[in-house]
Amino acid sequence: MAPGGFGKGAEEGGVAGSGGTGWRRRRSGAGKTLSAADEGTGGEFGMSLVGRDDKERIIERFSRHVSSGKARFFREAGIDFVFGHREGIYVWDLDGRRLINCHCNGGVFNLGHRHPRVVAALRRALEELDIGNHHLISEHRALLAERLAELSPGDLNRVVFGVGGGEAVDTAIKLARGHTGRPGIISARGGYHGHTGFALAAGDPKYSDPFRPLPPGFRQVPFGDLEALKEAMDDSVAGVIFETVPATLGIVVPPEDYFAGVRELCDRHGAVMIIDEVQTGLGRCGAVWGIDTYGVAPDILVTAKGLSGGIYPMAATVYSDALNPFLDANPFIHVSTFGGAELGCWVALEVLDILTEEGFLEHVRELAAVFEKGFRELLAAHPGVLVEARQRGLMMGLKMANDLCGPLMTLAGFRHGILTIYANNDTSVSQILPPLVMEAREAEAVIEALDGMLAEVERTLGAQE
Ligand code: PMP
Repeated sequence: MAPGGFGKGAEEGGVAGSGGTGWRRRRSGAGKTLSAADEGTGGEFGMSLVGRDDKERIIERFSRHVSSGKARFFREAGIDFVFGHREGIYVWDLDGRRLINCHCNGGVFNLGHRHPRVVAALRRALEELDIGNHHLISEHRALLAERLAELSPGDLNRVVFGVGGGEAVDTAIKLARGHTGRPGIISARGGYHGHTGFALAAGDPKYSDPFRPLPPGFRQVPFGDLEALKEAMDDSVAGVIFETVPATLGIVVPPEDYFAGVRELCDRHGAVMIIDEVQTGLGRCGAVWGIDTYGVAPDILVTAKGLSGGIYPMAATVYSDALNPFLDANPFIHVSTFGGAELGCWVALEVLDILTEEGFLEHVRELAAVFEKGFRELLAAHPGVLVEARQRGLMMGLKMANDLCGPLMTLAGFRHGILTIYANNDTSVSQILPPLVMEAREAEAVIEALDGMLAEVERTLGAQE
């Protein structure tokens, strides 16, 4: 059974360095134990609001009132999957089809769906809390910030809370500019940091061009290329922001010495080093943070997605004491009404308890080894389509022969029981981000399914030639 996995009942304690306050004891009290459903269909579950017989009507409603463009896109692609029941590593279509979630919303479902301890934490929090007041001093925000500081590299010791990753990236960029008084922000070409103001300006023009003019001062360099960064750096640069392993760019794993070089260049020019760990953090790469695997401490670390436990939105911009004078002098210059909502603090603390439990990260590394071996076999079996397997722990991507392959793999996944999505800024790459709590035998089942999916893609490509 995976540490922190679904067969495990909630248990007492587990907060390193805690004096065991009553609050903490209550928070980690016993929860409901569910087991990952090995078999079954969505037909057994009754959580659909309008009835799963009406799937087509739901799609129509979505099209009419949420997004006509998305509905059209999925219709044209032949994808009618509607999230129904969900539990553990699985999601079910409203009409009962079961998929292993190998997308996990980029890490939201690191602990699988509806992890019983995370659900129990929210239930307990609901007994006595609500969102709290973001202007006032908060016990729960303080406790979560303290825990994040304990787990963060270097002297990252302070936290600004947000609701989502984009907002937390915006905060990081504000902090870099506020601290240095400089305008320049360097990011990776084809990288992705969200759709909010500064985050959008740091990302790919594909998402920002229609919204020009963008805030000035943003420049982009090829990711992983220290020489290019060196060229771009000067003393007008406030900050440099990179994902540890850019997901939307195609799970690009940089050279081992890259981040040490980035650190050195930032230090040389007095720029703030920002690392976006929205996808790579919270165990995904086999360490608490992806950047830990490079042995480098940034000045600001951004986390979101997985901190929610898939249950309650939470994002955090964790920053170094050295940057504090700016916010110390301007404590009300940035606020977020829902950022660090107190209910969410309980959820996030439970997520961090699970992550730091003995054996959890070892399990991630063991699973990564299962995938590594499987990928070697897949590379040997599908030389015509599979070009490269990219991997940092369970942050994984399959680079294929051409730009059609990612979308074809996503489609094949629906037939082979795997939810996987391609990298939007390099559609030849399928992103493979399974839940970290998966069992080794389930990882092997994923490899077997990928084998079938790759064979399908190969046939489709062959038929086109
Ligand atoms: N940074 C990265 C690396 C991301 O993958 C994302 C979301 N996919 C974001 C930031 C933005 O997060 P959110 O959607 O929560 O604003």
